[in-house]
Amino acid sequence: MILEIRTDGDPVLREIAQPVKVIDSKMRKLASDMLETMYDAPGVGLAAPQVGVGVRLVVIDAGDGPRTLFNPEIVWRRGEASDDEGCLSVPGMVGTVTRSAEVEVIAYDRDGELFNVRAKDLLARILQHEIDHLDGVLYIDKAENVRPVEDECEDDQGNEGD
Ligand code: ZN
Repeated sequence: MILEIRTDGDPVLREIAQPVKVIDSKMRKLASDMLETMYDAPGVGLAAPQVGVGVRLVVIDAGDGPRTLFNPEIVWRRGEASDDEGCLSVPGMVGTVTRSAEVEVIAYDRDGELFNVRAKDLLARILQHEIDHLDGVLYIDKAENVRPVEDECEDDQGNEGD
């Protein structure tokens, strides 16, 4: 099921999302619907507050298949990298954000199993962007040079719409 994506100005995007207590069929359905909504948009990541649900759940596909992360936490960071980002909740805009170059994240999967992912490049950026959503933070809070997406940049990484 495609869910409605909330946009900047909706208060749910500014709330601190609650930890997921039990990963049950309802939560798995939400994750599946979020993936469907993300692919439909299209985007490379989506956090539950973006579909109006204040829980700590994000879905990501950095080009290597779908990932579902319940209660994700960044446990390690290294370096610094700047690149353009967009967000499905801030349509039509792009901005340059400086983030950690590499991160390690721990999270629970759909079966409630704890796992960790060590990431750099695009995946590291998406993880940080999506986990920010769980704390009510939008990339435009951190970005420099926020500007409208130009048509000729449509295929750029800058318009990835996470
Ligand atoms: Zn976003």
